[in-house]
Amino acid sequence: MSTIVQKFGGTSVGSTERIKRMADRVMREKEKGHDVVVVVSAMGKTTDALVKLVSDITSEPSKREMDMLLSTGEQVTISLLSMALQQQGVEAISFTGWQAGIQTDSVLGNAHIQSIDTGRILNELDHGKVVVVAGFQGVTEDGDISTLGRGGSDITAAALASALKADRCDIYTDVDGVYTSDPRFVPKASKLTSLSYEDMQNLASMGAGVLHPRAVKHAKKFGIPLYIKSSFEKGRGTMIHGKAKQIGSNPVIGVTFEKDINRVEMFDCEDVEGFRKALMCELASRHIQADVYKQTCRNSLSLLIKEQDLQEVLSILDKEKEKWMYSRIERKRGLSKVSVIGQNIKSQPAIKMDMCKILLENAVRVKLVGESAISVTAVVEKSQVQLAAERLHTGFGLDYKVVMKASM
Ligand code: ADP
Ligand code: ASP
Ligand code: MG
Repeated sequence: MSTIVQKFGGTSVGSTERIKRMADRVMREKEKGHDVVVVVSAMGKTTDALVKLVSDITSEPSKREMDMLLSTGEQVTISLLSMALQQQGVEAISFTGWQAGIQTDSVLGNAHIQSIDTGRILNELDHGKVVVVAGFQGVTEDGDISTLGRGGSDITAAALASALKADRCDIYTDVDGVYTSDPRFVPKASKLTSLSYEDMQNLASMGAGVLHPRAVKHAKKFGIPLYIKSSFEKGRGTMIHGKAKQIGSNPVIGVTFEKDINRVEMFDCEDVEGFRKALMCELASRHIQADVYKQTCRNSLSLLIKEQDLQEVLSILDKEKEKWMYSRIERKRGLSKVSVIGQNIKSQPAIKMDMCKILLENAVRVKLVGESAISVTAVVEKSQVQLAAERLHTGFGLDYKVVMKASM
C-alpha cells in the first residue's frame, strides 16, 4: 500500500475551523486507499507567543526548558486534529516527537534528527489509523525533548517520509507553490511548477522561507518527491524531485532575502585565519549558520548572523576574547541580505557585476558583497531590502515568466 505524508503549517491549522478543513483533506487522501501520516505545526503564531512569554521571565532561558516549552505548541494541534478526524469517523492517533520514535542529537533549540524508529507508527498504520505527528520536535539520547529550529516541522515531515519510504510528502502552506522570490514582497514573482532538489535547497538555504533547507536534504537522500501546495486554494503547486530539468538559459533561478541580519565585526585580530577557522568550527558544532568574511587589510573578521542567534554568538565571542585576541567588537543591527541564486554562479563574474550595477542604479546602498558557488549576496539596510529584491528580480529577467522549469 502507498504511504503519503501530509504536512500542515501554522496558518493552515491557525484556528479550529481550519483544523476541521485540514481533517477533510486528510480524509480524502485516506479514502483514496493510502496510508496517511500527518505532520502539523503549532497553531498560527503560537510559537512566537510562547517565545514572548519567556521574555517576561528571563533574558537567558535554559535551552532545555525552552525546548520543553516550545514543543507544547505542536502538541495542541496533534490532539485537536486527531479529534477532528475521529469526529468524522476516521480512526486517528496522535504522537509527540518522542512517541513517533524521532531521536535527535543534543543541540537543543536546533537539533538534527539522527534516526527514526518507525515501529510504533507502522503498527498504527497497519491497524488502519491515520497517524498525526507533532512537527519540530524529537528526543535526545538523554531523554530530553529537543526542537529542530524555527520552521522545523518541514524537516519532521520530510524525514518521516524518508524513513517510511513514502510515495510523496505533501507540504500544505499559505502560498500555492514555490516562486522565483517571496510573492508577498515581490508581486511579479513567477511560480515554478517543478524544481530539482538542488535548486530548492539553494533557494531555501539563502532565505526562501517556504521550505526548510534541511527538509530538502532528507527528501533528496531517499528521492522522496516533495509537493508544495496551498491549503486554501485548488490548483497545481510545485513538485520538487530528482528529475526536474532546467529549460531556458537564465543562469539565475531566483532572488531571496533575509530581513533581520546582524553584522558583528572583530578588529585587530592577531591571527585572523586561525580565528576564522576556530569560530566556524564552534558555530558548526552548535548548528549556527553564519557568513564569515575576513578583511586582511584591517585584520578584522565579520560575521553575518540571524537575529535569533545573536545572543548566543555574542556570548561565545565574549568567552573566547582572550584566546582570539581582538581589540574591539562592533555590532550593527537592522541589516538584510538579498541574494541572486543559480547553480555555478561563481563561475560567471558578470552576474556579480550586473547585480552591483542594478543596485547602484536604484540607489540601494550596499554594505558588503559576498559570493558562494550558488549565490551572490549583498548586505543592505533593512529599509531597502524590498526595493533591492524587486529590482534584481526585474533586472535578471525573472518577472512573470510563466514557468522556468518543467517536469520530464
Ligand atoms: P508554514 O507555516 O506553512 O510552514 P511559512 O510561513 O513557513 O509557512 O512559509 C510560507 C511562506 O514562505 C509564504 O507565506 C511566503 O511569504 C514565504 N516565501 C518565501 N520565499 C518564498 C518563495 N520563493 N516562494 C513561495 N513562498 C515564499
Ligand atoms: N512551530 C514552529 C515554528 O513556528 C515549527 C514550524 O512551524 O515549522 O517555527
Ligand atoms: Mg514553514
